[in-house]
Amino acid sequence: PHVADLIAAGEVVERPASVAKELMENAIDAGASAITVEISHGGMTFLRVTDDGKGIPAGELKTAFLRHATSKLRTEYDLEAIGTLGFRGEALAAISAVSRVEVMTRTADAPLGASLALEGGVPGQVEEAGCPLGTTMVVRDLFYNTPARLKFMKKDAAEGAAVFAVVQRAALSHPEVSVKFIRDGKQELLTPGDGQLQSAVYSVLGRELALGFRPVKSSGEDMTVTGFVSMPACCRGSRSWQFFFVNGRQVKSPLMAAALEQAYQNQKMVGKFPGCVLHLELRLSAVDVNVHPAKTEVKFGQERQVFSAIYHAVLSALERDRS
Ligand code: ADP
Ligand code: MG
Repeated sequence: PHVADLIAAGEVVERPASVAKELMENAIDAGASAITVEISHGGMTFLRVTDDGKGIPAGELKTAFLRHATSKLRTEYDLEAIGTLGFRGEALAAISAVSRVEVMTRTADAPLGASLALEGGVPGQVEEAGCPLGTTMVVRDLFYNTPARLKFMKKDAAEGAAVFAVVQRAALSHPEVSVKFIRDGKQELLTPGDGQLQSAVYSVLGRELALGFRPVKSSGEDMTVTGFVSMPACCRGSRSWQFFFVNGRQVKSPLMAAALEQAYQNQKMVGKFPGCVLHLELRLSAVDVNVHPAKTEVKFGQERQVFSAIYHAVLSALERDRS
């Protein structure tokens, strides 16, 4: 691949967890109802994502791996209101530039599916393949051709844990999708995909922790906040059990974390970090997700309104619990 492609790839694909995140997002965008993520060696040697989504037509398979090839945005106006998790058309190009990829895919109208192998971004031939409806992406030997990046990888256990965290967040972001995670042959997560956030929370956080979570539900004119917050206040010695989603997208949001924690402080519930699984829904145009290639940062048009929506939603959940 060209140097420019490798540089661009580095912004999207930092480690196996970024590969898992992008491939799961594609599966969700494709309308999958079940997604399986399997890894070996922390995802460094082998990472496979299987979905039962709409598949990629054989004639579009090669194009999907080109940089800036997206089927999700048609016009510049679509950028104002992004309703899919992907939109930059960078992930497949980036992943395939720094690994060995194999894809098998079939759409509903095709009797036979198609397969394609790429090495360092260079595609082979598209071939016919018997396969179920949906897409399977296999990513092997991540960063085999970028030794500088390879050096920065942590131990397999740490990379695997980061993949697991991404999978957990995906499961919590889309409870209507059944998410399975298999590490080194061992199944570590299976969510029912019944559409209930509570079932996903139970599967991901475990029964014991989930039992201490209280429901949050509040809808205003412009925003809806739903989910669960931990009770009692302390959950963990870190923010690792704080999960925030904006319009179904997993995000890092210091603003939302601050609003959450301020509500606990208001209730004099101070101590460790509260846990939460909070979904914020708002108009697509009220949030900009095109801030960074990894798409986990968001900019809100109305920060104060977002803060106050989260704060009041959490506060009323805490007050309800105490009365
Ligand atoms: P983006 O998601 O930003 O469009 P990607 O590089 O992640 O860009 O994917 C490129 C294109 O490949 C997508 O727009 C979509 O058309 C197709 N695609 C990728 N993964 C899948 C999948 N699992 N199921 C169906 N189509 C897919
Ligand atoms: Mg994508």
